Amino acid sequence: MTMPAILWLCRDFRFDDNAALSAACADGPVLPVFILDAATRAQGSASRWRLGRALAAFDAAWAARTGGHITVLEGEAADLLPALATRLGATSIHQNDWPAPAQQRVQAALSDALGGGPVRLHLHPGHLLIHPSRIRTGAGGSYKVYTPFARAVRQAGPDRPLAPPGQLTALPAIGDLRAGTLNLAPDMYRGAAVLAEHALPAGEAAAFGRLEDFLDCVRDYPSHRDRPDIDATSGLSEHLALGEISPRRIWATASLRGEVEPSLAAGSEKFLSEVLWREFAWHLLLAFPQMPEAPWRQEWAAFPWAGESPAATAWARAETGIALVDAGLREMRVTGRMHNRVRMVVASWLTKHLLTDWRIGLHHFADSLTDWDPAANAMNWQWVAGCGPDASPFFRIFNPEKQAASFDPDSRYRDHWLQGEGARAYVSTLPASWNSPARWTSADTAPLLAEGRNRALAALERFNRAADRLSAKKG
Ligand SMILES: Cc1cc2nc3c(=O)[nH]c(=O)nc-3n(C[C@H](O)[C@H](O)[C@H](O)COP(=O)(O)OP(=O)(O)OC[C@H]3O[C@@H](n4cnc5c(N)ncnc54)[C@H](O)[C@@H]3O)c2cc1C
Repeated sequence: MTMPAILWLCRDFRFDDNAALSAACADGPVLPVFILDAATRAQGSASRWRLGRALAAFDAAWAARTGGHITVLEGEAADLLPALATRLGATSIHQNDWPAPAQQRVQAALSDALGGGPVRLHLHPGHLLIHPSRIRTGAGGSYKVYTPFARAVRQAGPDRPLAPPGQLTALPAIGDLRAGTLNLAPDMYRGAAVLAEHALPAGEAAAFGRLEDFLDCVRDYPSHRDRPDIDATSGLSEHLALGEISPRRIWATASLRGEVEPSLAAGSEKFLSEVLWREFAWHLLLAFPQMPEAPWRQEWAAFPWAGESPAATAWARAETGIALVDAGLREMRVTGRMHNRVRMVVASWLTKHLLTDWRIGLHHFADSLTDWDPAANAMNWQWVAGCGPDASPFFRIFNPEKQAASFDPDSRYRDHWLQGEGARAYVSTLPASWNSPARWTSADTAPLLAEGRNRALAALERFNRAADRLSAKKG
């Protein structure tokens, strides 16, 4: 007997490898529902804007396949879904688990509301390569270091992706809201128009196209992936963040290409080791859900970070006077993306040279990145700040000029964002009151670099001495 089922969309805007969709189809006709709730509204504006594009792309794909639309509701799942299930005569609500702390609270509230009644919430894996419960240390805990974690995932072998459902009967959409016309980020004002101009195409078809194009060139990935002046990385992070492609599909496709074409093996191997960093970030977030708010290593709670300051504001406005740092922050403001190497340099400048609390940077990134991912963002900020479990030590302070010389040797990336097309696009995002002088062109940055570095090392020394005194007292 078939029963109508609710597909509760979250970060899974795809047909391929979608366990919740497959399970809903096995139940009977499907009503796909997206709920615009308080947790979604609390997200950063750029990622909300990108979510709107993912929804619109999925709605269009749904329409092409079924002739109907997805249902969009405003409110809380716990208030809306039990009544909706009763109205439809559905006993199952299926969701692909996006194990972000905010979403887990929403799921728990819905489970409470459903109580012991006939309607059940089913959470399906698919956001990660392997269910985290299968990756445990010998002692049964979670991993804190990337290398053994990555080894354990490879040994266990990522789960195989599912094919898209063959049979799909859709129920007609309910309500007046349409995914294609929603404006999820009215707070971006004209920033949204600029982002739209520089956006990568959204949606599942675009994600698959991007993966294929990237794998054709994956041979160069190991040598070029750190170069912001070369388009050598996959650009898949947005698609992964929105679930427009699954990590299991990426793993299976890239592994196969590496096996079939030996010349691509090393490149695809390196690429997959980066995908494992994403997996590791989620592993850490599940073990320590406070990761976006609190240092993993508790003793770092006492580090004397500076709070909001004119220097931190100038950083966010790409006005540090350091070319690579300002170029990266401009790239993010215009495109919603920033090259990984530059993210590290920009984050290091804020936390080391400016001694500013990493959470200020984390929030700025969360508001500005279209690939915002709560796990990757928090893990990486803690990695750079030196307070994460497997972090770069605090005394490792990036010198942005040396980084620029190594990774942007002809200054193409910096010139683009500080003087060329990118600079013009950046200026067009600024409010009239916001002056952005071009200060970095001739400035001699050496004293600024040395002063910041010395200040950071002195702060670290004081911090270590205080920690030693404390442990001596305790001992
Ligand atoms: C301070 C800081 C904040 C970051 N915030 C985010 C974030 O909010 N969202 C996000 O997706 N990534 C974040 N990253 C990681 C990384 O910068 C991006 O994943 C990468 O730049 C995306 O580009 P790509 O898809 O072309 O990467 P590729 O080089 O093609 O890598 C393939 C995939 O591997 C994963 N990956 C690569 N590097 C990392 C990494 N260091 N940590 C976790 N996963 C990784 C991503 O899913 C990426 O799409 C952050 C890094 C730093 C230093």
